Amino acid sequence: DLLVVGSANADLVIHVDRRPDAGETVLGSDLATHPGGKGANQAVAAARLGARTALLARVGDDAHGRLLTGSLTSAGVDTTRVLSGDTPTGVALITVDPSGDNSIVVSPGANARLTPADVAGARELLAAARVVSLQLEIPLESVAAAVAAATEAGTRIVLNPSPPAALPREVLAGCDPIVVNEHEARVLLGPEAGDTPEAWAAGLLALGPRSVVVTLGAAGALAATADGTVRIPSPRVAAVDTTGAGDSFTGALAWRLGAGDDLVTAVRFAVRVGAAAVKKPGAQESFPTLEEVGQL
Ligand code: ADP
Repeated sequence: DLLVVGSANADLVIHVDRRPDAGETVLGSDLATHPGGKGANQAVAAARLGARTALLARVGDDAHGRLLTGSLTSAGVDTTRVLSGDTPTGVALITVDPSGDNSIVVSPGANARLTPADVAGARELLAAARVVSLQLEIPLESVAAAVAAATEAGTRIVLNPSPPAALPREVLAGCDPIVVNEHEARVLLGPEAGDTPEAWAAGLLALGPRSVVVTLGAAGALAATADGTVRIPSPRVAAVDTTGAGDSFTGALAWRLGAGDDLVTAVRFAVRVGAAAVKKPGAQESFPTLEEVGQL
């Protein structure tokens, strides 16, 4: 079973001809409101594939919170640990211009209130899970608390350090694997990162995790351990919208690792899930069922 600990956001999207400058007002399309946030996305991705999945997260007692809970529930995610309080649900205000470039303002809202005490409250779930999957859209101290509790319980830890931030050594050492895209790899490694995925994987392994996965968009992914590095190509698909591709990849990977797959086998599956997700618009709406992955 999989426990995801992380964020839940409402993504508020408006298409504009041109993004506004300071002091300027522009008119845009009708507002579209989508369930998002990396934690909720990963949980929905795994549950839609058939994984028994629970999410530990915080939302507000508001319409956005209900939107998220509804999306999670209809995907089959256990939401008994989706906690609700006075702080509004996190939102991302997204404007998209005709070239597809976007500007995003995030209000973490309730996500910033997911505390180490909330993690302690889910200790039994953490101990019972085979894998806990984490990202960095909640307070770092709560991520660290989850890593500590999972390590003590022998629960495997998957971490996508997004948005990328410096991580304590104990957190890095607990990851098996740490999952990064190119941007996250470069931020974590700094100017000495090097220019190949193999170099990033080697640099990240030196920071202490047991394993590293680097996602490479249409090129697939790379899996690295002390034993070696393997490149896994992605199926070729007509990409429509890559939003949430990394989240579906990581949710799928975490599930398969918990089900007993070795790292390379799990990455082979996850690249198919990511490829299926980019064939449809949206994030959670685009995540495939097991049958759709099989049809690729
Ligand atoms: P992120 O969304 O975090 O930037 P990536 O863009 O690396 O992550 O995508 C994650 C995974 O989704 C990739 O490893 C790949 O399997 C799949 N994917 C993403 N973009 C494409 C694409 N254009 N064609 C096929 N697969 C893709």
